[in-house]
Amino acid sequence: MFNKILIANRGEIACRIIETARKWGVRTVAVYSDADAQARHVRMADEAVRIGPAPSAESYLKGDLILNVARDTGAQAIHPGYGFLSENADFAEACEKAGVVFIGPPASAIRAMGLKDAAKQLMRKAGVPVTPGYDGDNQDADHLQAQADEIGYPVLIKAVAGGGGKGMRKVDRAEDFPEALKAAQREGQASFSDPRVLVEKYIENPRHIEVQVFADSHGNCVYLHERDCSLQRRHQKVIEEAPAPGMSPQVRAAIGQAAVNAAKAVNYVGAGTIEFIADGSGALSADKIWFMEMNTRLQVEHPVTEAITGQDLVEWQLRVAAGQPLPLQQAQIPLNGHALEARLYAENPETGFLPSTGPLEVLRFPSGVRIDTGVEEGDVVSPHYDPMVAKVIAWAPTRQQAIAQLSEALGQTAVAGVRANTAFLKRCLDHPDFQDAKLDTGFIGQHLDQLVPDAAPTPQVLALALAAHLPSNADAAGQDPWDRLTGLRVVGQPHVQASFQIRDQIFTPRLRGRDFVLPESAHDLMIRQGGTQPDVVLDGERLTARCVTGPGFCHLFHQGQWWPLTRPAYEAGADGAGNGKIVSPMPGRILSVSVKVGDEVASGAPLVTLEAMKMEHVLTAPFAAKVTGVAVSDGGQTQEGVELVTLSPLEDEASA
Ligand code: ADP
Ligand code: ADP
Ligand code: MG
Repeated sequence: MFNKILIANRGEIACRIIETARKWGVRTVAVYSDADAQARHVRMADEAVRIGPAPSAESYLKGDLILNVARDTGAQAIHPGYGFLSENADFAEACEKAGVVFIGPPASAIRAMGLKDAAKQLMRKAGVPVTPGYDGDNQDADHLQAQADEIGYPVLIKAVAGGGGKGMRKVDRAEDFPEALKAAQREGQASFSDPRVLVEKYIENPRHIEVQVFADSHGNCVYLHERDCSLQRRHQKVIEEAPAPGMSPQVRAAIGQAAVNAAKAVNYVGAGTIEFIADGSGALSADKIWFMEMNTRLQVEHPVTEAITGQDLVEWQLRVAAGQPLPLQQAQIPLNGHALEARLYAENPETGFLPSTGPLEVLRFPSGVRIDTGVEEGDVVSPHYDPMVAKVIAWAPTRQQAIAQLSEALGQTAVAGVRANTAFLKRCLDHPDFQDAKLDTGFIGQHLDQLVPDAAPTPQVLALALAAHLPSNADAAGQDPWDRLTGLRVVGQPHVQASFQIRDQIFTPRLRGRDFVLPESAHDLMIRQGGTQPDVVLDGERLTARCVTGPGFCHLFHQGQWWPLTRPAYEAGADGAGNGKIVSPMPGRILSVSVKVGDEVASGAPLVTLEAMKMEHVLTAPFAAKVTGVAVSDGGQTQEGVELVTLSPLEDEASA
C-alpha cells in the first residue's frame, strides 16, 4: 500500500477519499484553490498545498502544477476523484511518465472510451449490444439527416466528445433535425472543442441502468451489480438506487457480463462504470438494454453500490493501484438489501433550478443515514464549482423501507442561507409512481408540477410559524422568536397573533380559540407545542417542524423546506434605526389606535391596528417608550411609509 497520496479534487469526493486513506494509514495531500483555502477537504488532509486562483482552469485542472506538488510532497500516487482531471488521458500519461501512480485506468483505456463514437465502434466489435444508430465519420449535414430518417424518429444527437448531459438534442420530427444538429454541434464545439456528433435511436421510456465494474492488473475483472439512475433532470442524475427495480438475476448476469466484456476490450484496470440505456416500457430484458458509454473513473453514485455489497470502492481503487489483486471474485460479491442516494444541491427549484450560492448558515443532517459532504455549517457555496452540497444515502432490507428512510432523512435535513433542492428530492421519493418503480428518465419532467415545492407558504407553514413564535418551556430563556420578534402579541387568552416576514412578504396569522384565520381561508388549529420544535394539529393533520433562531430571525424547517421568518421590515426599521418612527408597512385602513401622546408603553405593546390586504396587522412598540406623537385616528386611511406614531425610548431601557 502507498504511504502517501495526493487528491487532485475538492468537495465531497476529496473528503471521501481522505477518509478511506486514513483508515489504511495512508497520508494525504490536498490541493486547493484560493476559493477553498478553508475548505473541509483542506482541513481533513494531512497536508494541503495551494495551486492557484478560484477558476478550475487555473487550479484543479492544472495537471502539470499538481504533478509538481506530488513530487515535492513525496506523494506516490494521485487520486483524481471524478470530474476535473479524472478522464484526462494526457494527465494519466504524464503521471505514468513522472513515476507517479495515477489511481485510475491506463491512459489508453481512457482514450479508447473518451469519444462516444469510437467507444461504440469498439463495443460493437467486442460483441456488446450498443444503441442502434450512426456513429461514422461522415459529418455532412445531409448525410446525418438521411441516417436519422433511416433510424426513425425520435432520435438523439450527441456530441461525440460530450459529457455531463451537454451537447445532446432529442429530435422528434425530421423537419426539426437541421436546427437540432446545429445546436448540438455548437455545444460540442463550445464545451469540448469538438463539433462532431453521432445520431442514435431515442429509446422510449428510457431507463438509465449502469454496471459497476472493477479490474486489477492481474487480469481479473468483476461487476458489482447495477445501479438505476433513471431519475434525471436534463440528463443529469438526481436520485440513484441499487439494485435496479425489476432486475432479474438472469438479466443482471447478462448485462454484468456484457460490462465485463466491455472493460476487458480496453484492457481496463480500476473502477469503471458501463452505462446502458434500457427500454423501460415493459419488463427489463437483456435484448432491450444497450451500451451507451463508459465512465472511466469512480462515479458520484458509487455509495449505493457500497451499501448493497458492503465494500469500500475507494479501498479497492487503492489496492488495485498498488498492484494488489481484487479483494473478491465474482461469485463472492454480495448483494444485500436496497440503497438509494439523493444529490442535495444548492439550487432553487422555484426558479428553474438556478444554482444558489452563499454561506451555509444552517447545515444539519439527521443520523441513521450516510452523508457524503465536502462542507460544514458556516462554509460557503461558491459560484466557481459544482453546487452539490451533499449526498444523502439510505440502506434498508427492502426498496420500500430504503425510500421511507431517505424521505424521512431529507425531511429532517436543514439547509439555510442558500436555497436547496431538499424538499424537491423528498417529493420525488414520496411520489406514488416512484414508490411503484414506474420510472424512466422522463419522470421528473412529467411530474414537475407536483415535485416543485410551493413558493408561497401554505397554511401548514403559517400554522407552524405561528406556533414557533409561542413560548415553550423547553426553550432556553431568550431563545424564543416570540421574545425577539416584537410583532407578536397575546391579545387575551386564547387569542394570539404573530407578525413576521417570509422573504419579501409579511404575514400576520391569527388564532382565536381553535379558529385559525388566514386571508383566504379558515382552519382548525390546535397547538400542541410552541417554540423551536413546533408541533400542531391543523385540520386534523399532525405537523412538526424545527427552528434555528437568532436575533430577529427564525429559520423554520418543514419537510426539507426552509422558511426564513424575519422580523417584519417595518419593525426592524424602527428598532434597527432606534429612531422610534413607527411607519405604515403598506397602504391600509386604521382600525384602532391604542395609544395617545404621553403614554408610556412596554416593549411589544400594541400601538396601531391596521387593516391591509384583508388582514389585520398590529404595529407594536419595538422597545419600552414614551409616545411623543400620534399622527392618525381610528378609521383613517394611510399609505406605505407614512409615520403613524413617534416614540422616545425610556431612559432605563435605552441605556440597558
Ligand atoms: P456521473 O455520471 O458520475 O454523474 P458526469 O459525467 O455527469 O458523472 O459528471 C461527473 C461529475 O463530476 C458530475 O456530477 C459533476 O459533479 C462533476 N464534475 C464534472 N465536471 C466538473 C467540474 N469542472 N468541476 C467540478 N465538478 C465537476
Ligand atoms: P453523458 O456523457 O452526457 O453522460 P450519455 O450518453 O451518458 O451522456 O447520456 C446521458 C443521458 O441521456 C442518459 O443517462 C440518458 O438519460 C439519456 N440518453 C442517452 N442516450 C439515450 C438514448 N439513446 N435514448 C434515450 N435516452 C438517452
Ligand atoms: Mg453518461
